[in-house]
Amino acid sequence: MSDRRSFLKTAGALVAGAALLKPSRLFAVQADGNSSQEQSGSFSSKGAFALSWKPFTGQLKYSFSISTNTRSSTPIILTELRWQGLVGYGEASMPPYLGESQASVDAFLQRVAAEVLPRFDDPFRMEDILSEVDRLAPGNCAAKASVDIALHDLCGKIMGQPWWKIWGFDAADTPCTSYTIGWDASDDIVREKTHEASWAKVLKVKLGRGDYEDKRMITLIREINPDTPIYIDANQGWKNKRYVLDMIHWLKERGIVMIEQPMSKTDLEGHAWLTERSPLPIIADEACQRLVDIPALKGAYHGINIKLMKCTGMREAREMVSLAQALDLKLMMGCMTETSVAISAAAQLAPKMQWADLDGNVLLSNDCFTGMKLVEGKITLNDLPGLGVSPI
Ligand code: MG
Repeated sequence: MSDRRSFLKTAGALVAGAALLKPSRLFAVQADGNSSQEQSGSFSSKGAFALSWKPFTGQLKYSFSISTNTRSSTPIILTELRWQGLVGYGEASMPPYLGESQASVDAFLQRVAAEVLPRFDDPFRMEDILSEVDRLAPGNCAAKASVDIALHDLCGKIMGQPWWKIWGFDAADTPCTSYTIGWDASDDIVREKTHEASWAKVLKVKLGRGDYEDKRMITLIREINPDTPIYIDANQGWKNKRYVLDMIHWLKERGIVMIEQPMSKTDLEGHAWLTERSPLPIIADEACQRLVDIPALKGAYHGINIKLMKCTGMREAREMVSLAQALDLKLMMGCMTETSVAISAAAQLAPKMQWADLDGNVLLSNDCFTGMKLVEGKITLNDLPGLGVSPI
């Protein structure tokens, strides 16, 4: 495919450019993508890293609307991290409201390639490498995740094991993913989306556009699908806690099972009031970006939604799972619109989740990887090493 050929060309150019900076150590990979070093399999090799990346536009099957915006594509950067003939795949997905772009990720990855990777030879120094990447600049969470995910894939491949197994999880424990039905002004399109989602064991519906629109969406979906459990994501779109509580009771009568980020992420007191009274679990999404955010959420929410693009990747996500469990917070794994690279990375943590919303690759019409599969809606992890992904 021409897209793939141009990636290799770009990757080759980046590798060649980097070699001019530090010819002896920076990149050990030739422009043809083959390792210039012996593939000894020795973990103590002096082999250096080669990081390459390319822009990719994720095309959405339907334009995607949440309470604040609508879009039909998502800018993505796909990364490859090479070491001793092995390659780890990574990804940054940048929905515009999070403030990152392909240009900002490109600039950040150039710094990772020039300032961090040349100081390391051993992929198993993940903790040190990823700490250094995090310290380069604040924010840039998706860019950081693209390095983190690729490094995890690489290390999993060196060990010959998938991450769910390395972490000691049981792949049978994964939940079903929800499948998102975005808001649409057209009743017919909402009906069409609902029919198309008949395979899903759980639906997720984006609300927060006002009482009439919210109830119209649920009523339309329930006319076609009366029984499938529904998660609601209000994306901070509701303003008044008493209204929200009434709305939650209305929703509970219609088979809704969980509510994500009903009000502003800054309204901790309002959410604490709601969580005390709500008959349904209240989950923090926008209010919970990184590990450091979690302690303050105890008491204000029943649980948290972890996303790799918010929290810089798998390393911190694993730490968030442990901290949330220690604080008796429930866990949800979420995603952006992402290819099967980032979805398969997030899915490695799915065995520890009460809820999962890992449908980002299904929402794309041009996913360029295979990886985690949905089997009758259930997240089904494979036995392949690392993330278990392959380019299509
Ligand atoms: Mg959300």
